[in-house]
Amino acid sequence: MMAQYLALKAEAEDCLLFYRMGDFFELFFEDAKIASAVLDIALTARGEHDGERIPMCGVPVHAMEGYLARLIKAGHRVAIANQTETPEEARKRMGSKALVNRAIVRVVTAGTLTEESLLDSRTANWCAAIGEAGGSVAIACADISTGRFEIIETTADRAGAEIARLSPAETAVGDGSPFDELATITRPRVDFDSANGEARLKRLFGVATLDGFGQFSRAALAAAGGLAAYLEHTAKGALPFLRPPRVTRTEAAMAIDAATRESLELTVSSAGTRKGSLLDSVDRTVTGAGARLLGSDIAAPLMDRPGVEARLDLVAHFHDDAGLRDMVRGALRAMPDIGRALGRLAAGRGSPRDLGQLRDGLDGAWRLAERLDATGIPPLLAELLPQMRGHGALIDLLTRALVPEPPVDANNGGYIAEGYDAALDDLRDAGAGGRRAIAALEAEYRTRTGIGSLKIRHNGVLGYHIEVPAKNADPLMAQDSGFTHRQTLAGVVRFNAPELHEVAVKVTQAGAHGLAAEAAHLEDLTTRALSAREPIARTADALARIDVSAGLAERAAEGGWARPHLVEHACFEIEGGRHPVVEEAVAKSGGRFVANDCNLSESSRLWLVTGPNMGGKSTFLRQNALIAVLAQAGSYVPAARATLGMVDRLFSRVGASDNLARGRSTFMVEMVETAAILAQATPRSFVILDEVGRGTSTYDGLAIAWSVVEAIHEDNRCRCLFATHYHELTRLAERCDALTLHHVRAREWKGDLVLLHEVAEGPADRSYGLAVARLAGMPPVTIKRAKAVLDKLEAGRAATGGLAAGLDDLPLFAAMAVEEEEQVDTLRSELGTLDIDSLSPREALEVLYRLKGLAAEGA
Ligand code: ATP
Repeated sequence: MMAQYLALKAEAEDCLLFYRMGDFFELFFEDAKIASAVLDIALTARGEHDGERIPMCGVPVHAMEGYLARLIKAGHRVAIANQTETPEEARKRMGSKALVNRAIVRVVTAGTLTEESLLDSRTANWCAAIGEAGGSVAIACADISTGRFEIIETTADRAGAEIARLSPAETAVGDGSPFDELATITRPRVDFDSANGEARLKRLFGVATLDGFGQFSRAALAAAGGLAAYLEHTAKGALPFLRPPRVTRTEAAMAIDAATRESLELTVSSAGTRKGSLLDSVDRTVTGAGARLLGSDIAAPLMDRPGVEARLDLVAHFHDDAGLRDMVRGALRAMPDIGRALGRLAAGRGSPRDLGQLRDGLDGAWRLAERLDATGIPPLLAELLPQMRGHGALIDLLTRALVPEPPVDANNGGYIAEGYDAALDDLRDAGAGGRRAIAALEAEYRTRTGIGSLKIRHNGVLGYHIEVPAKNADPLMAQDSGFTHRQTLAGVVRFNAPELHEVAVKVTQAGAHGLAAEAAHLEDLTTRALSAREPIARTADALARIDVSAGLAERAAEGGWARPHLVEHACFEIEGGRHPVVEEAVAKSGGRFVANDCNLSESSRLWLVTGPNMGGKSTFLRQNALIAVLAQAGSYVPAARATLGMVDRLFSRVGASDNLARGRSTFMVEMVETAAILAQATPRSFVILDEVGRGTSTYDGLAIAWSVVEAIHEDNRCRCLFATHYHELTRLAERCDALTLHHVRAREWKGDLVLLHEVAEGPADRSYGLAVARLAGMPPVTIKRAKAVLDKLEAGRAATGGLAAGLDDLPLFAAMAVEEEEQVDTLRSELGTLDIDSLSPREALEVLYRLKGLAAEGA
């Protein structure tokens, strides 16, 4: 047995191996130690290997899902080795000492789950793969619980941002891939070859050419092929259920890098939960599929304005009619998750209940479509309705074939409805007739023997039998009693009888044939449902889109949100903007959120925001970034009015967050992120920067903040909100014409600081740092001491002209940039005039010295 185990374990590579033995899955060696620790189950030992006891632990087969869930959550992969023959078959093959054949039938990994109990119904479960070829990069990702399959054509520098958006449960790359850092698993390189990928995809979809699905780059084929290979590997060769891929380009969505996603808490909060995120505060969807779609909408706001407007039209349709909205949400709430039911059926793990869910879901979709159909509906809705109708024949079939509430477990039958199959009905009648006959026999035996407590019972070993209390058993033991003794237990004695045997055989046979007939129907119905899987998946998509739109409408109505007005030029005009998450928190603690305006225009595209700590600067910055995300995701926004030009890239660098796990200090992280912004922001981008330069000495920090503001103003020319405690920066307003000054208001009243959370024009009069410290409960004597130090510092500053003294004489940012360029130009022209071939070695050396001198002048 150990030899078989070790061979399977070698095949399982780095997965934990679940080795089936009877009613248990056993784990051995290291696997057993890991699993017993994660699952908190007893670690025992069994036999010996190389002179050592073998550690072992096990989980019961019937409870395996729960244990699997915990192992997967803890980051493990599990290979399931099942018995592939019965012990009888093994004996026939090998004689009495036979070892039952076992094989790995499936590898369970976080990215390839389909079980309802192991998945969160409200989030998509992506498994991704990154491929590259000919200098371009693509990411393929699949949610095999629903069959969604997407390919994103991207670039090397945006791959990380795309992975951050998708946040896959697993990411695979080929051995030696440059995207190793983004991956959770490495697979053989050949799987990520574009030619192999193309062949594999053709096989997967059973087509001779992929042209029908659109154009694929070589990188796309590499990624999709690598992904399909990995999925086949986990399913042990079975083809995964994937819909034809949808190819998108990175440019189709607003670019949001990982740091920005984190800092804005778009889909997960800083605590790592869905709760507290923007998604959670916006989500009023009533179905799992709707919640999943909303998650991907918010993670990838659109760049195409007509696409956004189409979504907004549908939200408006539900927003303006509360009755319609309630009807739709009520209908959707009652519908099962057909996408995932379909996924399980396609993966070969479907149950009668999944077919029942399809029936109810498709029927519900049809009815809903009927009720939504009207003249003058928005074009997007008109497009969705046909996808919700058109499964009439399948609904009919499933309605006739299945009982109203089919069970999850098919083993006991009882899921095929009466009247669907006359032969099955006959078998059931025979069974029922037999059971009636048995009841009649029981009555007859009681009269015949005079034993009132005589019973006819059934169990797996004896089948149907007669049972009487031991004290009444004697007369039945007699030779001519008509009963045959079968078994004596403590208090009862069991018998058989010829009439009972005859009826029992009929009942048992009818039962077995009935089960077989039901199983055949289950298979047939599953095949028929799967033959329509693409249109069914589209129905699921349509329902999800309707759920998202009605949910957003509900959220907008609840919060008094406005439909954003999207334009092409780079403006950003928000009246009465609010931060949905902070607003909720403030309201919960009995406060009132103060709405604020924001107006970034050509003449004022960079706002420098000052004001006291806790005054609401970060909140103001973030709320505007969130409004941009919501608007382009096709949602109403938390504002009284909003007009904004499409944002191509969004950047947020808010607050100092350590990333010690990646070995970078707070300041280093801040600089890396700021550098990325300066390198990538375009005039159509939107940037929020909070307290850049705070993590280092005052002078260094101010210098960096100063030059960053100038670079953004002169070079990037994006829309930007820049919050800072460096009041010195406000001088930049005089030299940067599109920079304006703003502050969050505060007042000191009877010695107490009152934060008004109101954004007003002009710079803050002072920083109130000590007042905030007092508010925070800093000991009075410390505050007093700090005040004394501050007075001293301020006196010194007044004498020297302040921290920013002398900065006004600095040449302008643009002038410095030009100077550098000129320097390069002189060098370039010098080099251009050189005739290298005519130089003597000595002259060449002189030229080198001269060029070096020129370069040094510029440094
Ligand atoms: P710091 O400079 O210390 O980072 P800050 O100015 O960025 O502070 P925020 O973090 O934005 O301040 O806000 C602090 C708290 O003030 C929030 O948690 C919230 O409770 C409250 N607050 C912020 N903005 C508003 C608002 N517009 N209306 C009501 N309360 C607000």
